[in-house]
Amino acid sequence: MRQIAIIGSGPSGFYAAEAALKAFGDEVAIDILDRLPTPYGLIRAGVAPDHQSIKAVARRYEAVAKDRRVSFVGSVEVGRDVSLTELRGLYDDVVLAVGAPADRALGIPGEELPGVFGSGAFVGWYNGHPDFASLAPRLDHTGVAVVGNGNVAIDCARVLAKTVDELAHSDIAAHALAALAGSAVSDIHILGRRGPYQASFTLKEVGELGELERATPVVRPEDLPDPAGDAALETGHRRVVEVLRRFAVAGPDAAKPVKIHFDFFHRPVRILGTERVEGVEVALTRVDAGGTATDTGETRIIPCGLVIAAIGYRSVPLEAAAFDPRGGRFANQDGRIDDGLWCVGWAKRGPSGTIGTNRPDGFAVVERIKAEGAPAAGRAGRAGLLALLAGRGVKPSSFADWEAIDRAEVAAARPGAPREKIVELAALRALCGA
Ligand code: NAP
Repeated sequence: MRQIAIIGSGPSGFYAAEAALKAFGDEVAIDILDRLPTPYGLIRAGVAPDHQSIKAVARRYEAVAKDRRVSFVGSVEVGRDVSLTELRGLYDDVVLAVGAPADRALGIPGEELPGVFGSGAFVGWYNGHPDFASLAPRLDHTGVAVVGNGNVAIDCARVLAKTVDELAHSDIAAHALAALAGSAVSDIHILGRRGPYQASFTLKEVGELGELERATPVVRPEDLPDPAGDAALETGHRRVVEVLRRFAVAGPDAAKPVKIHFDFFHRPVRILGTERVEGVEVALTRVDAGGTATDTGETRIIPCGLVIAAIGYRSVPLEAAAFDPRGGRFANQDGRIDDGLWCVGWAKRGPSGTIGTNRPDGFAVVERIKAEGAPAAGRAGRAGLLALLAGRGVKPSSFADWEAIDRAEVAAARPGAPREKIVELAALRALCGA
């Protein structure tokens, strides 16, 4: 019997578990650990609340969690309640599926001012992650700067731009909906340090910005390169550029009071303000044929009361597990960190790709685990972990506990919404073991 511990119950953890069930049949016991009592990681706390169809993949993970060979061990933090070294002693294989929860820093003066947040914190806030429920970003200024030209920047801009009605069918946290209802924001600037050809948006995400009730995209025609170059772009990216061209030709819809400015060739160099953020100073750039940006020497100030840096994420090192600080992920070769220690998903590759990218990734790493051959007998596995935790007075929560939380959230949903998220850890824990 192979005993596997997977640390992290997000998409990469569940795909690794699914792969291990297929690969080892009846000869496996899998424990999926999470520091929260709620599973699904980025599906619950990262995917935008108005993208419910993406969140539906949780049904597939639920089937894995309820498999008799799998156990969800919630409310257990590796590094606090149990060490990685202890887990490696208890299990044949430990798989780090811990994602990339830390925001990358901009590294510019003024970043420490109140009102400057990483996208992980801001997205966690509107998605009701217990760590960020009390973030309270102020929306009393007309301007917001969202730094970055990826899908997370678009998610943040779209959520800020939508009306309460547009968010009605989402599972946005109640505190965020209330704050957005009183928002003064009318100018959302998406700052890209390079141009449309270098942006990493995808088609659906850009297209949605053209279909909002009260918000309209603003693209400067002069920021778009000569269309002759579009043919060389990969199809998906070419379509994104076509949408941007459409936005530029149409111009902003004057009837819509909220503007989403695509500010390409804008590199933030300083956050301005004394008590809190009051603006961002940007250096204007030009981009050469190889995609490298250089400053033109011109600068611009964008007034804003909130800055969201959506510039990527980093994994957080865990004890002695080899770490690649430049890549912000665990140092690994095709998922292998060390004997019996593996990583999958963003912990392995860094923060790129869609939810679905994690599936082949998880299956490939499990193939490597299988290729190691049968483990030596005698690991204590789940029984050993539970005994160790009990000895420390740590009470893990179960998948049944999550189902109780789920029922409570669904029962409390606003009309038309799928659920009302419980955002305080103590309130979540209170529903466990009930
Ligand atoms: P991303 O796609 O890697 O975009 C990061 C952006 O930040 C890039 O435009 C990058 O510009 C910029 N950047 C990095 N450092 C910067 C700095 N110091 N100053 C200014 N700009 C800087 O990352 P992401 O948006 O966080 O998304 C992560 C992954 O999740 C992506 O694969 C994304 O597609 C995926 N995702 C998908 C969805 C969806 O499918 N709906 C939603 C959200 C996220 P350069 O190119 O110049 O480096």
